[in-house]
Amino acid sequence: MNPFIYKEHALHCENVALAEIAARVGTPCYVYSASTIVENYHAYDEAFGDIPHMVCYAMKANSNLAVLRLLAKAGAGFDIVSGGELFRVLKAGGDPSKIVFSGVGKTAPEIDEALAAGIFSFNCESEPELALIDALAHRRGVKARIAVRVNPDVDADTHHYISTGSLEHKFGIALAEAEKVYERARQHANLVLEGVSCHIGSKLMDSAPLLEAADLVLALIERLRAKGFDIQHVDLGGGLGVAYEPEEVTPAIRDYVRQLHAKVQGRSLRVMVEPGRSIVAASGVLLAKTLYRKKTGGKEFVIVDAAMNDLIRPALYSAYHEILPVRARGAATLRADVVGPVCETGDFIARDRDLPELLPGDVLAVCTAGAYGFVQSSTYNARRRAAEVLVEGSEWRVVRTRETYDDLIRGEEAL
Ligand SMILES: *Cc1c(COP(=O)(O)O)cnc(C)c1O
Repeated sequence: MNPFIYKEHALHCENVALAEIAARVGTPCYVYSASTIVENYHAYDEAFGDIPHMVCYAMKANSNLAVLRLLAKAGAGFDIVSGGELFRVLKAGGDPSKIVFSGVGKTAPEIDEALAAGIFSFNCESEPELALIDALAHRRGVKARIAVRVNPDVDADTHHYISTGSLEHKFGIALAEAEKVYERARQHANLVLEGVSCHIGSKLMDSAPLLEAADLVLALIERLRAKGFDIQHVDLGGGLGVAYEPEEVTPAIRDYVRQLHAKVQGRSLRVMVEPGRSIVAASGVLLAKTLYRKKTGGKEFVIVDAAMNDLIRPALYSAYHEILPVRARGAATLRADVVGPVCETGDFIARDRDLPELLPGDVLAVCTAGAYGFVQSSTYNARRRAAEVLVEGSEWRVVRTRETYDDLIRGEEAL
């Protein structure tokens, strides 16, 4: 479902006119559709049907407390990558027994906090990490459930910054070495070697590499079981892409999960996935206001009040985001770069984009900004981080207020 549609020339999120939110909250401002987030979670959950499963939302994609609370209430588990994410998800009411902890660089305090919270499992990425978790679990007198993250060496065919499943990447343990790692890990008395995990990359526009990785991991599980390891769960990571451009086609969540279901069925395995982007990306827009129009060197610029500090994806990944005027303005008559106020040439939202006639004061919606949007924002150029709004049907509320100037200097001292 796309919750962003025009009704009588006014772009809405569910039943709320975005112009109203922009007028009341100001811009830049992120707006999320609650029903879209919950629907996407349910698409995963329902498609797994009767096989034991756990959908652990990768909260790094959007960790606003209200978003987490929605998903926790819907029954989601969570994939965390830091102690800060653990803190956030517990604040939002997430169930610790449905949390998995991923990441190559977990620190001792972070591991200890996760053990104290009683999370479901650690996805471990190296032998020293296994040893550290074992020692910390021993000190606490608990057992830690472990899945080793293996690197199946499949080419995820995505942007090289977000591809993670090849041997040259820092992630996971090479599939060929995995059995030896499990053998050596037997010495750790406080680890329960119960799972195998993988995550090959993000924004995959085709499910084939994901399914290929699943086959390789399932074959490894058979070999481990033959060696006497009691493998109970397989965590197949996240990575499913979304359509950023109108003509792009991505696998539907339900179709992808049905294919996983077919592979896992009958294996006595609990299957887990860690979707981030595919749950929240399409639920969100970033609202920005046109400040100026400007022509220079034969180029046309639309200068808006949102910048790379608010949404870094165009600058960081050359990402495309569709731009829609909040008040419909008819056909495209203008080709322009949409840029922000930050003092960097890389500060653009769109380049050479065909747009309708835009006037100062016009509000724009930068689409598909619900994932890796606000969470990657910064205060660069001493810009306050944007407000966030959650829409539920005809209701909306601010779920993070715009930062104040005092927020910008919190913790600093002018000696
Ligand atoms: C980033 C990440 C995810 C989520 O990826 P999406 O592409 O947003 O679905 C899941 N698992 C791990 C380990 C990750 O690093």
